[in-house]
Amino acid sequence: MNTNTNYQNLKDSYLFARVSEKVKALKEKEADKKIISLGIGDVTLPLPKTVVSAMQTAVSEMGHANTFRGYGDYEGYDFLRQEISSYYTAKNVDIAANEIFVNDGAKSDLGNILDLFSADNTVLIPDPVYPVYVDTNIMAGRKIIYMDGNCENGFLPLPCENIKADIIYLCSPNNPTGAVYNNEQLSLWVDYAIKNDAVILFDSAYEAFINDKSLPSSIYQIKGAKECAIEFCSLSKTAGFTGVRCGYTVVPHELRRGGQQINEMWYRRQSTKFNGVPYIIQRGAEAVFSDEGLLEIKENISYYMENARIITDTLTKLDIWFTGGDNSPYIWLKCPNGMSSWDFFDYLLLQAGIVGTPGSGFGKSGEGFFRLTAFGNREDVILAMRRFNDFDSQGNC
Ligand code: PLP
Repeated sequence: MNTNTNYQNLKDSYLFARVSEKVKALKEKEADKKIISLGIGDVTLPLPKTVVSAMQTAVSEMGHANTFRGYGDYEGYDFLRQEISSYYTAKNVDIAANEIFVNDGAKSDLGNILDLFSADNTVLIPDPVYPVYVDTNIMAGRKIIYMDGNCENGFLPLPCENIKADIIYLCSPNNPTGAVYNNEQLSLWVDYAIKNDAVILFDSAYEAFINDKSLPSSIYQIKGAKECAIEFCSLSKTAGFTGVRCGYTVVPHELRRGGQQINEMWYRRQSTKFNGVPYIIQRGAEAVFSDEGLLEIKENISYYMENARIITDTLTKLDIWFTGGDNSPYIWLKCPNGMSSWDFFDYLLLQAGIVGTPGSGFGKSGEGFFRLTAFGNREDVILAMRRFNDFDSQGNC
């Protein structure tokens, strides 16, 4: 028998393992040193009270014969999909409940959606990038073209007429760079996709962090996007669901390729390979979209965004080039004095006891850059920035 040899083309995902190894080695050498992590990509605040209470009620329901629920709908319960549809209405976007598919987090669907597309499609992926897009396409043996992010384009690459792609990944607000596309830039992508009969896979996992109301928080705020884009959303960072697991994917009815309606294909795929998200979790997710839930998540997001402000104020003062931090929990900075990503990681860890994430771990264009996150606790962020301040850094781009 033959295995999928494409797996041999995957690079080892050693980034976070190597980070932990280095931190562990320092802890063993200097046990008293307080090490602060600004590298974490996970939330630290607990779930909103409204969500916890909704899930507790749902647990009780499951213990009584008259309210017990077994298998649910593959695409998610209507009560949740109606709430998500209303969430879109508040963004001036018309998305019907049957265009929404509830999932166990964006990561699964970002990978699974590729079932709908032929392996001979060409894929266009920004670099640096959330590694899932690259690895899932390598596993399927697709040809990948990279579009480079850099200081000149603000890590927001735009379409290039002479590049032909069938599947395009966009992530805005971006992980790792924190950069956010504006309406004009996203319109260029939508026009390009329509002209090239391509499909945009729009990762909107951090949409709730957008403060600036003039920036699009859904690709469907752009004219024509329903004919060419699938949007992936997550409650992980929005509502602290990283351990609870719930997100949703929007597949508009207007999206057709190769004579097929993509919404119907996705329903067929999900009903074959997925048995839905637990009732208890979906009740928790429903509570996120209630008035109290939305207020509570706003408070948590404001806490993280204040951390981001403290970090970016320090970088601005030190004249270090960065993107992100204003509409995103990620801050992407240029390593001072021309250092490589890993050299700066070592320098920051050994000199200041601060842990970040080397940009080179997100793709070749990430070399020389570094990711900090705003998900830590306030005292740690303040202390880390005090230590950072002591550096004589010249991170000009
Ligand atoms: N998309 C991006 C850009 C992410 O950074 C992450 C998680 O870090 C995800 C998707 C996955 O989110 P989820 O927890 O919903 O699977």
